[in-house]
Amino acid sequence: MSPVKIIRHRTLESCVAAYLGKSVKNLPRRGYWSCYDRKGRSRRYLMSCTLRKWRKLGCWGWVQHRQRRIHLWIAPHAAFAEVVILLAHELGHLSSKRINRPAGVEERKANLFERVTEKALALAETLMPKENP
Ligand SMILES: [Zn+2]
Repeated sequence: MSPVKIIRHRTLESCVAAYLGKSVKNLPRRGYWSCYDRKGRSRRYLMSCTLRKWRKLGCWGWVQHRQRRIHLWIAPHAAFAEVVILLAHELGHLSSKRINRPAGVEERKANLFERVTEKALALAETLMPKENP
């Protein structure tokens, strides 16, 4: 896999604004966030709910495919496993050429990396020796 550049954002708003190509000041607070669910189906959520969910999770990211950049926001309260899963998702996007059609296929590709990582983390949890069995 070719090298990847990580762009860390200090705030969620900065990361989202960069994704939307807007300044933080002009970040839309209302309206909807369009995305794809795990099965690649198109979804729309209220922007305010979406930002609240990501803020609670403590991490969010997106990729600039051609430039091989991963934009990330990671809050101090983010769980290590969530950050690993986020990175797996974004690296999944960069694992091969971008799939633009049909809509949602590219997201399903990245979601597969995410699910494999979730399984690996859960399995590792059961396999790791306990300090005090
Ligand atoms: Zn994605």
